[in-house]
Amino acid sequence: MKFSLNIRNSTTHFTSVLAAFVIGSFSTNAYATNVYSTDAFSDSSLPGSSRPSSVAPNIALRNSSVARATLSTGIAAQSSTMDTKPSDNKQPSSLVLNGVFTQGALLRGEVPKNATVTLNDAAVPTNRDGKFVIGFDRTAPLEHTLTVTLADGSETVRHITLEKREYNIQRIDGLEQKMVTPPASVTQRIKQDNINVAKARSTNSDLDALFTRFTWPAKGPITGVYGSQRVLNGVPKWPHYGVDVGAPTGTPVYAPVDGIVTMAEDLYYSGNTLILDHGMRVFSTFLHLNSITVNVGDRVKKGEQIGTIGETGRATGPHLDWRINLGKMRLDPQTIVSGTPK
Ligand SMILES: [Zn+2]
Repeated sequence: MKFSLNIRNSTTHFTSVLAAFVIGSFSTNAYATNVYSTDAFSDSSLPGSSRPSSVAPNIALRNSSVARATLSTGIAAQSSTMDTKPSDNKQPSSLVLNGVFTQGALLRGEVPKNATVTLNDAAVPTNRDGKFVIGFDRTAPLEHTLTVTLADGSETVRHITLEKREYNIQRIDGLEQKMVTPPASVTQRIKQDNINVAKARSTNSDLDALFTRFTWPAKGPITGVYGSQRVLNGVPKWPHYGVDVGAPTGTPVYAPVDGIVTMAEDLYYSGNTLILDHGMRVFSTFLHLNSITVNVGDRVKKGEQIGTIGETGRATGPHLDWRINLGKMRLDPQTIVSGTPK
């Protein structure tokens, strides 16, 4: 059919700002080294980096207060990841925040143990190590305030400015109506699917996996990006909240970090669907799988095969659709994984 979607050549029309804030002084350079040992800061060859290479991390930290790097490249080309090891018991004196500062981003941070964090006055949970995660949805406002209160009552206020994103909107007219609206006979099933998915994303585990480095779950070209939207016969549809990797049916799918399986089920729209809990309400979801090779309750390791790519459910061809959630918030996987899925 003519409407088969050619999203292979679609581009991401936005500029991302990659930034990290390091606020306060650090008691040891060892920690500082750790802070900067992420992809974003250890790789001076990243295109568009505006961080002067002469500014050594320890100098930036000694002077102060804010170290910030800005990149202006396609988001697919880079991303910051926070990869602090569980054995790392050094603590920042105030706040470390890592990630891509755009709408749709998941940011990972750390404060001293016993400090409290609020985002726009709402409490942000921290784990036993003082680590936390925050997210900003597809159309989030651009200005936010993060406040860290230390055990002694002192406060650090950090203003966050997100980059506004332009999403790809695709209009397709002249479709048969049955392709646009599901038949009434399946509405009950779709309702039940949604309930099951919400339940699978309702756990709140203390896994540390989300603070480790994410890798791409499959190899292949990116054929769809977060945030894009189709308008079918003039009706705006639900935006696309995943990143699509196009590859033949049977291509292995691997866990991007450790996780616990909370769903392994065939759903109407997304076909064979697998959900992994990575801790602190961060979840990966994998759609349209041909096979799922793990079961609900299984603990999987990063890099372990969890299934294969397929086109089950309402898919327009074999691909992996990978999504990231923070609770109910739908975020862009490309804000937490570096590079491209090669
Ligand atoms: Zn998709």
